Amino acid sequence: MSPLVIGLTGGIGAGKSTAANLLKECGANVIDVDEIGRDLLHKDGDAREKIMKQFGSSILISSGEIDRKKLGRIVFSDSGHLEQLEAISHPAINRVLKTLIGEQGSGIVILDMAILVEKQLAYFAGAPMYHKVVVIESPTGLRVNRLLQRGLSEKEIEERIGAQATDAERAQAADYVIRNSGSVEGLRRAIKNFWELVEIWRIDHTNDCMDRESGNR
Ligand code: ADP
Repeated sequence: MSPLVIGLTGGIGAGKSTAANLLKECGANVIDVDEIGRDLLHKDGDAREKIMKQFGSSILISSGEIDRKKLGRIVFSDSGHLEQLEAISHPAINRVLKTLIGEQGSGIVILDMAILVEKQLAYFAGAPMYHKVVVIESPTGLRVNRLLQRGLSEKEIEERIGAQATDAERAQAADYVIRNSGSVEGLRRAIKNFWELVEIWRIDHTNDCMDRESGNR
C-alpha cells in the first residue's frame, strides 16, 4: 500500500516549516524537499560537478565546498541563472524523493516544499508524486517581518518573494488553504482541524489503492 502524499507549500516566511512540524506532531512523516536540495550541493557528486561547471569556481569556498549564500545571490538575482540551477537540481531531487516515498509505509507523507506550483518538482514520469496540495498563507507584511528577523535583507526578501508564485496562483492549485495570520497556537488549532480532513483523504486513498490492486479500476 502506498502512502497518501501531500504537498505542503507556501510563500517564504508564511509558516510552512512551522506547519510541517505541527503536522509531524499529528503523526505525519515529513520530508523536507528544500533540505534535499541543499544536501545535493555536497552529497550528490554528479549534481555538484554540474553546478560547478555551470557557475564557475568563484562559487566555491576555500574548502572546495559550494558557497550556498553566493549561489543563492547569483540565482535569485537572475531568473535565467535560477532556471539553469533548477535544470540540474530538480531531476536530482525528484530521484531522491521517488526513493524516499517508496520507502514509506501506508501512512501520511508531507512534502514540505517552497516550490510546488512553479515547477515540476516532486514529479515522476510527468506526474506529481503528491496526491493533494495544502497551502499555508500569511499576509505579506507579516512574512516580511518574520524574514527580517531571520536575517534576510529587504532586497533578498523582495527577490525571493518575486521568484515565487503569488498567493492567488498557489490557492488555485490548493485542495486546502491554511491561513497563518495569528499566533502559533492558532496555527496549531488550524492544523488539528485540517488533520481531520487528512484522515478522510487517507481512507479514500486506501480504498483507491485497494480497488486498483483488486483490478476494479
Ligand atoms: P517558511 O517555512 O514558510 O519560510 P517558517 O515556518 O520558517 O516559514 O516561519 C518563518 C518564521 O516565522 C519562523 O521564525 C517561525 O517561527 C515564525 N512563525 C511562523 N508562524 C508564526 C506565527 N503564527 N506566529 C509567530 N511566528 C510565526
